[in-house]
Amino acid sequence: MQLYVLNGCGLNIGRACLGHLNNKYVYRGGDYDLNQLFSLDDITEKAQEMQPDIPLLLAEMRAPLWEQEPPDVDTGRQCVHPYTCGFYGHCHADEPENPISQLPGASQELIEILKEASIEDIHDIPDDFVVLTTLQNRVRDSVVHNRIYLDAHLAVALQHLDYPVHFLDFETFNPSLPLYIGTRAYQAITFQWSDHILEKDGTLRHEEFLYEGDGDPRQAFTTSLLDALGREGSIVVYSSFEATRIKELAELFPDLAGALLSLKENRIVDLLKLIRRYCYHPEFHGSFSIKSVLPALVPGMSYDDLEINDGIMASITYEEMIRPDTPSERRDFLRRSLLAYCGRDTEAEVRLFNRLHAV
Ligand code: SF4
Repeated sequence: MQLYVLNGCGLNIGRACLGHLNNKYVYRGGDYDLNQLFSLDDITEKAQEMQPDIPLLLAEMRAPLWEQEPPDVDTGRQCVHPYTCGFYGHCHADEPENPISQLPGASQELIEILKEASIEDIHDIPDDFVVLTTLQNRVRDSVVHNRIYLDAHLAVALQHLDYPVHFLDFETFNPSLPLYIGTRAYQAITFQWSDHILEKDGTLRHEEFLYEGDGDPRQAFTTSLLDALGREGSIVVYSSFEATRIKELAELFPDLAGALLSLKENRIVDLLKLIRRYCYHPEFHGSFSIKSVLPALVPGMSYDDLEINDGIMASITYEEMIRPDTPSERRDFLRRSLLAYCGRDTEAEVRLFNRLHAV
């Protein structure tokens, strides 16, 4: 399209390239090596081949702009992948409370089979509908009978945790232009952790870390984390995110690798995996994210009262907080918001644990 516009302006374009940030380029400090930072993908031939089709494509794109009604397009996977569409609420307003798209891992093929059978709502999927996976069947059963699925193995697994139990969560940001020596474009940089520590007698305390200095946060992050986690107790996380970051930190700091890898190999318990395997609540609405699971299993607890309510927002907030031109009052506000958010994540893990380990 850009080539079409530029040609139309009378410019003579020799090459059309897509410029990608090269995530293999390792920043060595000082000015960026621009030849390394970007990798160019020459698409001249492809772009030229498409030129004759562009007028027709443009006409197709412009036509709906003159209509009084939006185009009649089925909702589907494109509404949430690669990100949730801004019109999601509008296009899904008339959908049932439990549309078939809420079946976990539903392929486009399955959605089409169900639509062909005029089934739009999970309630309408018959008992003997054979193409569902075990998890999808469980979801169907839970929605149809409006009941919680809870396998006793979940409580047993939680009862076997070692005390003190640490409930842990990390926050990271992924700067597109590498900021620190040795990092690459979009690399996850850990800058914050929260740890709620539950003793066997029920005492709960909270420790946290948020890097506010200049420079790379990872050294201070790692040493403070190892101090807080000590050598004892299970470490409950929600997803594989923390274990992946710990592995990366072990590669970065070989002298701490033994201690870090031992956390990952011997102490981490993924609550998401356990819930996914042993629990379903109709109000999960097909999602096992902590944002969906928490209000369903711990009514009244959510992230709605916080300034930050997801990891992407936390990452954007951190980038703003560390910018030298951010006024100190604003910086304080962002700092408090980040601490509240990460703390809520681990508090949520504790509340989920309390809710599930005694059933
Ligand atoms: S939600 Fe977005 S992607 Fe989905 S049908 Fe509506 S406009 Fe298209």
